[in-house]
Amino acid sequence: MKKVYLDYNATTPVDPRVLEAMIPYLKDEYGNPSSIHSFGSRGKAALDNSREQVAEFIGARPKEIVFTSCGSESNNFAIKGLAFSLRKKGNHLITTQVEHASVVETFRFLEAQGFKVTYLSVDKYGLINLDELRDAITDQTILVSVMFANNETGVIMPIKEIAEIVKEKGVIFHTDAVQAAGKIEIDLKNTPVDLLSISGHKLYGPKGVGATYIGTNVGTRHGLFLPPLIHGGGQERGRRSGTENVAGIVGLGKACEIAKEEVSSQKSEYRIKSLRDELFRVIMEKIDGVKLNGHPEKRLSNTLNLSFDGAEGDSLVMNLDLEGIAVSTGSACSEGNVEPSHVLLAMGLTREEATSSLRFSLGRFTEKGDIDRVIDVLPRIVERIRNINVKTRGKTGG
Ligand code: PLP
Repeated sequence: MKKVYLDYNATTPVDPRVLEAMIPYLKDEYGNPSSIHSFGSRGKAALDNSREQVAEFIGARPKEIVFTSCGSESNNFAIKGLAFSLRKKGNHLITTQVEHASVVETFRFLEAQGFKVTYLSVDKYGLINLDELRDAITDQTILVSVMFANNETGVIMPIKEIAEIVKEKGVIFHTDAVQAAGKIEIDLKNTPVDLLSISGHKLYGPKGVGATYIGTNVGTRHGLFLPPLIHGGGQERGRRSGTENVAGIVGLGKACEIAKEEVSSQKSEYRIKSLRDELFRVIMEKIDGVKLNGHPEKRLSNTLNLSFDGAEGDSLVMNLDLEGIAVSTGSACSEGNVEPSHVLLAMGLTREEATSSLRFSLGRFTEKGDIDRVIDVLPRIVERIRNINVKTRGKTGG
């Protein structure tokens, strides 16, 4: 049975072109980029090249890119770094109620350190209200962090408008672009973002590598210095110590180069969107009691988050898995946790609706046959789970 993978927001397979670019750095080119001999200089040249590819991908300059170990580290570095370096200026921070755990938990940590944090609410589509943002900014505010696109629903925030409001008030703006990168255009030449996070394994690169963009106004000798999370040998111009993951960084660079081409041609996006919309259309036709979570249009083309009345998301995931189909309930990072998604609750779903949600996320290697398989098995699975639930409720009287 061919496996069907529809969990690209959890992680993507490594693109064969990325793997090919990485292999030399796992075999013969094993020099430490800090070494001054030829092995070292070839490693260093590989890092320089990747830094250019990543910068080019988001419309930044190479010196504005710091390599990290993942999206979570990139978020931690940007948010904690900024908060600690501007602490004397103010102690108020703003974020939203729908961020990824690596942002939410960082803000919770900062609250415990004495910072005040405002968590902006979202509407039923998962979008923040720009007036609420404007009103929340005070003369004590030093940082606003709003994700570019949501990992659970795919909802895309109006980042350009948000960044402009924040800049107008003279505050630093961070965006977690881990899910947006590679799916929609990111061009920092016309969007005033100061800090941005990306991750290799969400855009067909390897796991264990990410990058933080630190804009020149924030990260130069004229601007601020974000204190590193990892101290040591002073790699990454003192911003992130530790011998660089050269092969991983080469993979991230290549992944960004490919993503840049794909995003600008929009061919892949169009193909993925048609498959996703076809999946949605047939599910709505064949199964009753299904509701779309997220905005109908302002959404990544690959993501479909649905609630199925009377059927728990985790039962659906397990039953689909038995059929060789991989999907997810909410965020993969909170998998195994039966608590309903904080994102869906913030959007006003009931606990029951939130726990009956399923996320399909498609990608570069999804084919029409994958969608057909889901359509073939899902109606039966939903019906079976609903019947079991009705019977159990009948017996327990609940
Ligand atoms: N931010 C978002 C929106 C994500 O979806 C994820 C991963 O799911 C992360 C951050 C964390 O990235 P990483 O898995 O590379 O730590």
